[in-house]
Amino acid sequence: MGDVIEVRSPADGRLVGSVPSMSAAEVQALAKDLRDAQLAWEDIGPDRRAKVLLAWGDWCLDNDRRICELVQAESGKAWADASLEVTAGVQMINHCATVGPPALTTKKVKAHGAIGFSRRLSVRYRPYPLVGLITPWNGPVGAPMFDAVPALMAGAAVLSKPSEVVPLSWLEVVAGFREAGGPNVIGCATGAGDVGAAVVDEADFVMFTGSTRTGRAIGVRCAERLIPCSLELGGKDPMIVLDDADLDTAVEAATWGGMANAGQICVSVERVYVEAPVYDEFVSKLTDKVGGLRLGTDAPGDYSVEVGAMATAAQVDIVERHVEDARAKGARITTGGHRGADGLYFEPTVLADVDHTMACMQEETFGPTLPVMSVRDEDEAVRLANATSYGLSASVWTRDPERAERVGRRVEAGAVNVNSVITNMFQLALPQGGWKESGIGARFGGADGVLKYCRKQAVVTNRVEMREPYFFPNSKRKGRLMGAGARMMSARDWRRKLGLRAR
Ligand code: ADP
Repeated sequence: MGDVIEVRSPADGRLVGSVPSMSAAEVQALAKDLRDAQLAWEDIGPDRRAKVLLAWGDWCLDNDRRICELVQAESGKAWADASLEVTAGVQMINHCATVGPPALTTKKVKAHGAIGFSRRLSVRYRPYPLVGLITPWNGPVGAPMFDAVPALMAGAAVLSKPSEVVPLSWLEVVAGFREAGGPNVIGCATGAGDVGAAVVDEADFVMFTGSTRTGRAIGVRCAERLIPCSLELGGKDPMIVLDDADLDTAVEAATWGGMANAGQICVSVERVYVEAPVYDEFVSKLTDKVGGLRLGTDAPGDYSVEVGAMATAAQVDIVERHVEDARAKGARITTGGHRGADGLYFEPTVLADVDHTMACMQEETFGPTLPVMSVRDEDEAVRLANATSYGLSASVWTRDPERAERVGRRVEAGAVNVNSVITNMFQLALPQGGWKESGIGARFGGADGVLKYCRKQAVVTNRVEMREPYFFPNSKRKGRLMGAGARMMSARDWRRKLGLRAR
């Protein structure tokens, strides 16, 4: 038995609970139990699995308040942020229960050419038996739900590893799967990065959400083990505000997109480029709006603050470093700019007149800051938006649909929102995935989001049972006949079909 991990509230440091840091042997034993239960789970079929998942969704709603309070206690979120975690997960259950069963039925395939005339072809979807699911601290329940649900729908068992910073609420939700009548096909390995690594060593497929640095390490390990992985990594999501945009709405959206969840959302607003003619007005309105936000962790049900605590002290340090670096290099801090007095808070901050020499425009901040930069025109906006190793999401603001199309198409990101921010995250029928160093693969996306947890099995049966013409032994006569037949099937014109020379 290893150490115990204490979970403390970022709001006031009080002890919320503790979990064991599991040993590799304990992770191995958990993986074995899950594998043992997986085949029966696969065998009951998609419709019955959907029913179990829907019952889990009911359980989640019945326990919504209790779980969200635990989310808030361990993460320090504003209640408005914490209160959406469970319902977001239930939405994913409803989505997968709808798109999963039809997608998972075996599909008939038409054969190519005459060679398949005597066969029946189909594609069967068989799950990766054990999906390893490693999640970060910004969405203690929502994040693992978004991936556990489609994997379970596919028929896989799920070995989850929540962040060591916020493991308590997810443990409750996993227990709820059993209480709702589900079998032993989802488990929870608790601990830090070493436990995550042990999960990677046990799984047949790894779904990881977190930093690019850790994602790269996991990708390397998966390559060594020759298992697939899907990686949802960091982002430096640009917002491009063109001079014909509805500025008031753009300001509201930037404020919400940059500050929701205290800025700790991978698909968010990390930097803003505003066309020069409207730059001053945008900064002034943004400063007023952000300056009016309330910082703190409110009581459950209160909805009396907009910006909650940050999950870790390390995260506050990053935000402070980015702000100080910007300040030193000449940025104007028009509102905010400091740590909160007690607890892990940082004031909602606007950094104006920033440029690409500053860390806040280069590195992921993941905090309540909005760096804003003036750009000459669309071209400069696109060039700067793409001047990053990340490519997770972006937004374009304009009243002109043609400009939106022109600019959006050139942005190198897995998602583009026109006149809205973050909204692609709530559209479960769309794929959510990062380009460049923001990830590999995608989650959601209707049926694709479920099928990604399946291996495709090609199935061939015979319409007529017969001796195959190519069985041994070979002979000249048979060889020539087969060659002529193959040529007949391959060529597009009669001269070539008959093997005649060109005149
Ligand atoms: P952060 O450091 O910002 O919390 P990470 O990307 O390092 O973000 O962590 C995300 C998740 O990955 C957490 O659950 C963490 O425990 C886990 N993790 C960290 N290092 C590894 C690793 N080497 N292998 C597998 N999981 C890891």
